[in-house]
Amino acid sequence: MTTPAPTPSKFKPYTRQTIATARQWDWLTPELQEAVQVVSHVLPFRTNAYVMDELIDWNRVPDDPIYRLTFPHRDMLPAHEYEQLRELVLHKKDDAAIARLVHGIRMRMNPHPAGQMTHNVPRVNDAPLKGLQHKYKETVLFFPSAGQTCHAYCTFCFRWPQFVGMEDMKFDARECSELVNYLKTQPQVTDVLITGGDPMIMNTRSLTEILEPLLAPGLEHIQNIRIGTKSVAYWPQRFVSDKDSDDLLRLFERVVNAGKNLAIMGHYNHAVELRASVAQQAVKRIVGTGATLRMQGPLIRHINEDPKSWAELWTTGVRLGAIPYYMFVERDTGPRDYFALPLARAHEIFQEAYSMVSGLSRTVRGPSMSAFPGKVVIDGVVTINGEKLFALQFLQARNPDWVRRPFFARYDAEATWLDHLKPAFGRDRFFFEMESGGPLRGPGGRVIPLVPSGQHGAHAGADCGSAAAESDAA
Ligand code: SF4
Repeated sequence: MTTPAPTPSKFKPYTRQTIATARQWDWLTPELQEAVQVVSHVLPFRTNAYVMDELIDWNRVPDDPIYRLTFPHRDMLPAHEYEQLRELVLHKKDDAAIARLVHGIRMRMNPHPAGQMTHNVPRVNDAPLKGLQHKYKETVLFFPSAGQTCHAYCTFCFRWPQFVGMEDMKFDARECSELVNYLKTQPQVTDVLITGGDPMIMNTRSLTEILEPLLAPGLEHIQNIRIGTKSVAYWPQRFVSDKDSDDLLRLFERVVNAGKNLAIMGHYNHAVELRASVAQQAVKRIVGTGATLRMQGPLIRHINEDPKSWAELWTTGVRLGAIPYYMFVERDTGPRDYFALPLARAHEIFQEAYSMVSGLSRTVRGPSMSAFPGKVVIDGVVTINGEKLFALQFLQARNPDWVRRPFFARYDAEATWLDHLKPAFGRDRFFFEMESGGPLRGPGGRVIPLVPSGQHGAHAGADCGSAAAESDAA
């Protein structure tokens, strides 16, 4: 069944329309094939030959972690929604009815958690700058329009409005000039995060048009340029054997030689993503330019609950020159019921993985929630005056004074996000809520989680550009 194929060197994507042409398609049961055809109407589906040939162990499908990561599964929708959609897709074939149902399901899935559409978009002359987010005072996020897709799509991704044509939900910017002009007016900004989708989907010439203006006079205050990417896992050939890979590395060198810190924020979900020789070469070639490669990713049920996988990932990364950076808590978007893990369990997994690795891998932080007020890490579970508590702190915050201030929440074995937590010691609000004057509200009056109750909410950072997990701007 698992006929080995040579490691692909030419990028070959597969979507719902073309997946049946892949040699592995016939290895799936009719039920699994049906789930891909049905659920991919809601969750965008894209994979590629490298992911299918090198990363998925087809003997373990459907439980293989990378299969779960990239192939839609029926349990990612509630049973009634799956049945409704299945009926429309397979039997009635009513495009208008499918579109209506799909839109309703997507809106239920909270496509832009944590006020991304409302609270982080900078304005000039009272006009929003599309394609930019400015959440933390020192960091601006830039979403180049050509980087709003990925080499494969993660089923948990919170950036999925980017891929499914929900135009009013998209961030993009046709030009880098708005970014540069904005940065010139913001001398306190030291960091730019270029994100997506996945900016590394762009060719080197397009990336040059974004990066080189950031090296120009007038932007000396920009010290760190980060690029969020999942290409290191989904298409490491981008740094090794694509026709402009060498040009890409020369571009990285120019950024470094201009005195900037270039940080590639590599989104990894599982140790298997760093086992292939081409993936290891990619790391070496990136760090060989003087750029840094930081490893980050979300903790996701069905995909990477095994602490040994995290320990192997961080250990291999360190050996190759990468820096373990973040383990994120899966955020409240997409099929979250399917992927979420309780915070208590997330903490246990992090602790166990952390205890297995050398001190050099303990640069990693987590489990961290990119929530509306900032990035909150679970430091531990403690008992104070007989009360079992989560010890928490901000690693990054909307108000810089909140950073590294320890605070406590009542232990809750079921809680999966910050806004499920209640303050400790009988208080009715966390310190940051009192300092903010109460809850903030998003569109439609939706409470975004400064409050310890109500809907979940998450952040405004960048994922892999990528990574419903990942990156964020801290
Ligand atoms: S998590 Fe990153 S790589 Fe995955 S689909 Fe989302 S943006 Fe793309």
